[in-house]
Amino acid sequence: MKENLLKKLICPACASEELNVECKQKNDTEIREGSICCQKCREVFPINAGITNLLYRIPQDVECEKKAMNEKVYYVTSDKKEGFTVTEDAIQKYQQILLSLPEGDGSPIFCCGGSLQNQAENASRFYKSVDELNLTGNEDILEVGASFGWGSREFAKKGCNVVALDITDFLCTSDLYFKQQSIYFDRILGDMNKLPFKTASFDIVFANTVLHHCMDLETIYRELLRVLKKGGKIVALGECSLGVFEDRNNKAFLPGKEEGRQEKAFRLYEWLHMAKRAGAQKVCLSFFSNIDDYIDKKIKRGKANSKKVIIAQFIKKHHFLEILFHYLTYTYRWLFRPGNWKIECYK
Ligand SMILES: [Zn+2]
Repeated sequence: MKENLLKKLICPACASEELNVECKQKNDTEIREGSICCQKCREVFPINAGITNLLYRIPQDVECEKKAMNEKVYYVTSDKKEGFTVTEDAIQKYQQILLSLPEGDGSPIFCCGGSLQNQAENASRFYKSVDELNLTGNEDILEVGASFGWGSREFAKKGCNVVALDITDFLCTSDLYFKQQSIYFDRILGDMNKLPFKTASFDIVFANTVLHHCMDLETIYRELLRVLKKGGKIVALGECSLGVFEDRNNKAFLPGKEEGRQEKAFRLYEWLHMAKRAGAQKVCLSFFSNIDDYIDKKIKRGKANSKKVIIAQFIKKHHFLEILFHYLTYTYRWLFRPGNWKIECYK
């Protein structure tokens, strides 16, 4: 943690802004070991390996999710004989895999059926969304559910002032990025449902496949909007969603729920409506191109030469056809299967 971050923090126990930091060990960039003490309620929060632990009496459901994620096995081989949970040793051993996130290094873990397949297949949408932010490098960005920290790494590369927040120990992976890529961002163990930040601290709150793990959609929107500066925005992509006619008890969510994770799915209009109810000034929902997704997915699955991919590439080449296809599928996506989309909520 950099001492400067203290200006943004509040005590997760009593919300006081009167916090003191004690440094026990420092390196060239940050406090590696130490603690933060609240002057009002006297609670002490540890800083270990540069990560500030501001998890305080988290709800049972969040505790279950944290445990489920920390125990999650990432299989390295397709026969599932070799795998790892995220520990400091595993981070060192599998650093090549972790450094290549999100697109991956082509190893089986990123391929069809692999534990990091989703990250690889969502990579191009992530980079597109980052590009669309047109960052100047002066922005204060909070990434909630930052997981391994590769999203925060991309914002830090652009010069932004970044805080990665997560409930898991995966944030330790960030040290790999710092060493290899000479960048820095702050890491906080914290609950996105009740953020340990002062009001109006960030220009952007970014969430990649995260907000559907919330306790309550309106509450989380309110909390994210609270920490935004006026004119700032929440950008969320890859969220679970349902078409109007889809079953809320979709089987796709069962494995995650059984492992103890919060896997909520909201309908698109609920994502929009709740943001407005939480006080967003403007809400924009946009769909990523189905054609891009399809081509990307098939190429990654080694089916670049199939007839359907050739037809998709033909549509892609002709802008008019692509736009027509986009609007033809628009109603279908609202009613039956939204696919990949993005929401931006302005304060
Ligand atoms: Zn306190």
